[in-house]
Amino acid sequence: MDAFYCHHFALPLPEGHGFPMAKYHLLHERVAAHADAWGIRLAEPPPATDDDLLRVHCPAYVARMLSGNAGHDEMRRIGFPWSERMVERSRRSSGGTIMALRSALAGGGIAANLAGGTHHASFGRGGGYCVFNDSVIAARHAQHHGLARRLLVIDLDVHHGNGTAELCAGDDSIYTFSMHGARNYPARKPDSNLDLALPTGTGDAEYLDCLARYLPIAIGDSGADAVIYLAGADPFLGDRLGHLALTKAGLLERDRQVFRACRGLGLPVAVTMAGGYAARVEDIVDIHEQTIRLAARMA
Ligand SMILES: [Zn+2]
Repeated sequence: MDAFYCHHFALPLPEGHGFPMAKYHLLHERVAAHADAWGIRLAEPPPATDDDLLRVHCPAYVARMLSGNAGHDEMRRIGFPWSERMVERSRRSSGGTIMALRSALAGGGIAANLAGGTHHASFGRGGGYCVFNDSVIAARHAQHHGLARRLLVIDLDVHHGNGTAELCAGDDSIYTFSMHGARNYPARKPDSNLDLALPTGTGDAEYLDCLARYLPIAIGDSGADAVIYLAGADPFLGDRLGHLALTKAGLLERDRQVFRACRGLGLPVAVTMAGGYAARVEDIVDIHEQTIRLAARMA
């Protein structure tokens, strides 16, 4: 299985910033240590090109992000200070999802981005640590290059995929499915094709039951020939922002359900990491690591 990383492009954050940037190089370290045993080929993706970005985002927004002419409020919504490194990282993170999708489509299996899942970025604005929407960028890239016609985005980050929903609202070639905490950010949750808002405190059994019920509906309705899966680590019970109560074993079972359902139908899957805000960064990395390990086994 191919896995793409971009932790070399970590962006500078002020001390005490809430975003766990360290998770990316820690995850890479763990995967690299087992790469041969797990059958994983690691590679650094090229950055998403301007054309890739402009198939998804408004030209004025892309220009402001690339040039550093974004307003104070705009950057506050994103939650990162602007820097050249932030732009490069956002491009590489999207490049990782593009490459993972290309690899999955070429091999008919699973490939991974050890970053990505920036689902709060919309047409003309970012938000919630998301600058560019890597899922829609990769989907439109694959369509533009004739590699896939219809895509399904399975978004199991604990936060609603508002940016993805908005971007794909008028585009029935990309089907969006989001399972998230009802009381979580973002406050306004525009309609995905299929939305499941879960009550605070939802645990493994209810969550997995819901997924087993609705995942086949999403897959069937989408008519997709490839899947982009956001395997967020933030439905975890130890997450500071999640409000759900899944265990690590429950999250692994979630991943297994998704991979089994897709692989059973021969659907290629690009899996991305999305959010994770547990108090201990090791917990976040454990959850992402088990996703990657299982993906490699089921690829
Ligand atoms: Zn999240």
